[in-house]
Amino acid sequence: MAQKRKPAPAARRKATPALAPENLNPYEFALRQFDRAADFLKLDSGTRELLSQPKRQLIVSVPIKMDNKKIKVFTGYRVQHSIARGPSKGGIRFHPGVTLDEVKALAMWMTWKCAVVNIPFGGAKGGITVDAKALSMDENERLTRRYTSEIAIVLGHDRDIPAPDVYTTPQHMAWIMDTFSMTQGYSTLGVVTGKPIPLGGSAGRNEATAEGCFVSIDEAAKRMRLGLKGATAAVQGYGNAGSHVARFLEEAGVKVLAVSDSRGGIYDKKGLRTELVNAAKDKKGTVTAASGQKISNAELLELPVDILVPAALEAVITRENAPRIKAKIIAEAANGPTTPDADDILRSKGTVVIPDILANAGGVTVSYFEWVQDLYSFFWDADVVRTHLERSIRRAYEDVAETARRHDTNLRTGALILAVGRVEEATRLRGLFP
Ligand code: NAD
Repeated sequence: MAQKRKPAPAARRKATPALAPENLNPYEFALRQFDRAADFLKLDSGTRELLSQPKRQLIVSVPIKMDNKKIKVFTGYRVQHSIARGPSKGGIRFHPGVTLDEVKALAMWMTWKCAVVNIPFGGAKGGITVDAKALSMDENERLTRRYTSEIAIVLGHDRDIPAPDVYTTPQHMAWIMDTFSMTQGYSTLGVVTGKPIPLGGSAGRNEATAEGCFVSIDEAAKRMRLGLKGATAAVQGYGNAGSHVARFLEEAGVKVLAVSDSRGGIYDKKGLRTELVNAAKDKKGTVTAASGQKISNAELLELPVDILVPAALEAVITRENAPRIKAKIIAEAANGPTTPDADDILRSKGTVVIPDILANAGGVTVSYFEWVQDLYSFFWDADVVRTHLERSIRRAYEDVAETARRHDTNLRTGALILAVGRVEEATRLRGLFP
């Protein structure tokens, strides 16, 4: 028999209901972002369901022999969100925080990103839940090779093409290419991008994410009439994406006041010199070894700067800290750094947020160039890569800004309307099999 509920004490009945904690699961907020665009596009419920689910999700056990000869088993993922516009494409992350939901979110964002810059790929992502920094180089190699052999059934230059992401490098991509090639019996350069140049990598791929991000900042600044010379910036995350963005900003005359990595940040009100930060990082493994006032990652986000570049992980700009963020432009070099609630707060403050699927699309754009070069066995000079990249990002920025203006919304929803619309069109034209 159902028990009668006791009436709530008066004090509890009167209390204002506390705000539910913000959902920081990246897949949940990727779906909220998608829904906003789907509402503008008036997508029917079947199409919404189709585009909000990943096409394939592969979970693998990755056993490796550690240097101490003991066996350890890691969990790996490869998720393909969509192949409606071409083979799926997306990076591989080695990080202790990797979960299936994170990989699903990142795969979905890849689909939208490829559509924003109008390249013929769908979206995918992969990862292993591992503290990669605690592994030796040999353990990294065995982990990468075994993971590649476990997911090889879904890879191929015409099926699914990985690339680097957090804590994976061109060397990891070389091992992926070699392992996959060994299973085929011949060299398949186009199965992975972000490779070292002697193995079919592209000139300019290493800096491409940052270069695209810088070009998008330049576009935003021009429209706001903010001169880059003398402007100020802070960059969270000093890896492949963040370190090169900091350098490009410095070269354009921006004073980079603060940078950080997983160990914390440094600040100098006169501006840091990236050359010195790089030297300290090379020597001691962290930017905090460079000279400057020590600050936390949380403090960095709230500094009074013109340009803020989150270039590390998801959900760092939330409902909680968004009201205190002072930057005029936020350029999302990282994927998913801003939650939907934070987006609303920033929009109401007039902050220009250049969304991840535009701000960091330079990486996949040059990955596309690399794939084309591998398939043709004809390699381009760095200036050709740079010219094509810059043109792609400026055109994408214009398309996104125009879509956002037409629908009276922010750049993120504008980018999503453009991208989801393109993927929906491809899906509709293909029709549903069988
Ligand atoms: P990376 O491994 O080269 O660098 C990651 C950096 O983030 C390191 O400096 C690390 O110390 C720092 N970091 C890790 N945890 C942190 C934390 N909790 N707080 C602050 N800093 C932290 O990775 P990357 O390739 O530069 O990727 C960074 C972001 O850019 C990710 O969101 C990734 O998905 C995105 N991205 C990368 C590419 C690419 O081509 N590499 C392309 C598109 C998007």
